[in-house]
Amino acid sequence: MTTPAFSICVYCGSRPGANPAFMEVARSVGEWIARHNGQLVYGGGRNGLMGIAADAALQAGGRVIGIIPQALVEKEWAHEGCTELHVVDTMHERKRMMAERADAFLALPGGIGTLEELFEVWTWRQLGYHDKPIGILNTAHYYTGLLTFLAHAKEQQFMNAQQMGLVCASDTSDLLLRELVQTAGLAPAAQLEQI
Ligand code: AMP
Repeated sequence: MTTPAFSICVYCGSRPGANPAFMEVARSVGEWIARHNGQLVYGGGRNGLMGIAADAALQAGGRVIGIIPQALVEKEWAHEGCTELHVVDTMHERKRMMAERADAFLALPGGIGTLEELFEVWTWRQLGYHDKPIGILNTAHYYTGLLTFLAHAKEQQFMNAQQMGLVCASDTSDLLLRELVQTAGLAPAAQLEQI
């Protein structure tokens, strides 16, 4: 297996969600990363959108790095098929390792775990702890309410445009993934166009 061109950390639901479009997009994201010689970094579980994205990447011949705390190995069905499965001691270690192994972050639809992870890398970015691009995949308008609230927070002067500019939201997975990879400076546009 060749060295991956880039690593994308995908945050997403440990449940599949109500709309089949969520499962479909998790599959597309996993496949896109594998087809473009990328590596998927994620929470290491088999359930929900997490498992779907990982399986899609593996089936397409990609590398998948799963990172799961010992306490969640059974609860989230640790994915033994990962290229690398790291069982760590704590949730903090999981998040640190996921962040370190990634060149960019992408949030798919998910619940409070996904939101927590998204907001953590976003706040870390604004504090200058990293400079990796962050994307929000607004499949089937899942995040529209959140984006509207964030615009409200900006209007009420608890956020500013610069902070909002640190994330990129889109409803189109291919475009968003391409943007993340290019912003991270990891693949020339022409190379991504060819595939
Ligand atoms: P959810 O979006 O709630 O389905 O959770 C998605 C993933 O986030 C699961 O793998 C959870 O274990 C993980 N998660 C839940 N809470 C946290 C947390 N505080 N920090 C990091 N990950 C979390």
